[in-house]
Amino acid sequence: MILLNPGPVTLSERVRRALLGPDLCHREPEFAQLQAAIRQRLLDVYALDPQRWAAVLLTGSGTAAVEAMLCSMVPRDGRLLVLENGVYGERMSRMAEVYGMDHLALSHSWGEELALDRLEPLLDRDPAITHVAMVHHETTTGRLNDLQAVAECCRPRGLQLLVDSVSSFGAEALDFHRWPIAACAATANKCLHGVPGTSFVVLDREQLAAAARPRRSVYLDLEAYCRAQDQGGTPFTQSVQTFYALDEALAEFHEAGGWEQRHHHYARLMEQVRQGLVELGIRPLLPDAASSVVLNAFRLPEALGYDRMHDGLKAAGFVIYAGQGDFARTLFRVSTMGAVGTTDIDRFLAAVGTILNGTAPRR
Ligand SMILES: *Cc1c(COP(=O)(O)O)cnc(C)c1O
Repeated sequence: MILLNPGPVTLSERVRRALLGPDLCHREPEFAQLQAAIRQRLLDVYALDPQRWAAVLLTGSGTAAVEAMLCSMVPRDGRLLVLENGVYGERMSRMAEVYGMDHLALSHSWGEELALDRLEPLLDRDPAITHVAMVHHETTTGRLNDLQAVAECCRPRGLQLLVDSVSSFGAEALDFHRWPIAACAATANKCLHGVPGTSFVVLDREQLAAAARPRRSVYLDLEAYCRAQDQGGTPFTQSVQTFYALDEALAEFHEAGGWEQRHHHYARLMEQVRQGLVELGIRPLLPDAASSVVLNAFRLPEALGYDRMHDGLKAAGFVIYAGQGDFARTLFRVSTMGAVGTTDIDRFLAAVGTILNGTAPRR
């Protein structure tokens, strides 16, 4: 089965085999070594200096990392602005709400471009804002939000960025040196090609120290994880087998040439998907330039409901992803993540063609 959904991804044999590593207690030195190697390899993805930056590992899905980031990186006297243009931005607002954080949202409809002409006046009107949270790649629609433009609004105003980079870390540009990023949350099982179970936050150590107390959470307290991990430990049991898989996936990632190579690889596959689907009469939701290379959304052919499309493709060995919320009736999504190649995409496109031919006259 080839997974074209946005995580969990199709595993390489190498990563799958790593799951069968030796039994290991998380209080033993072998675990400390494994953990330290993964933390370093994560910093290496964007060439970050370990004096200033830390990769903090958690056991939980991507949402755990995002929640840990928000509840650990915004001080009690801070004020958070959340930029929303899809499910994941709105989820961050819900977290801020649940934690009783001082926050507000700049809302857009799903898929809409972030409106800088609304953002700047808002920031100027509300000088109490200290942090801006945004989603880099909004997986709801495949839109790659313009992080650089938001960073350029934040930097001169001394604002810190908190980025949900769950579906972009390892495949899209993240300039930790020029953009005022306090933290990025991500996960093992999207662009890094590991398995679900481990997620992480890459954070600025000074920003963590300035924000983490008083604590808002016991389990999602990044300061506690970071301190323990710096000493080779962990506050709670980690998912050891998914650590093995992430370590192997990162080795594979770096051997293949790092994030830029992964970006090129995804871009080539996505170009193939877009072209092939357009030839079959299926239109993408967003223009190429507004889209990530990681996932794109497409308009469901009218003759075909999502279920028939999904079930037909699954029978042919491919799993696609439905739209969320109101998009469930009108869109489907295709991701390029995982151990997927051009011949897989050829077969996928042929399968889509067969399903369309069987249900509607050709255009
Ligand atoms: C996948 C994803 C998440 C987190 O999803 P989990 O199901 O918790 O792993 C968060 N944000 C974005 C942008 C995502 O694509």
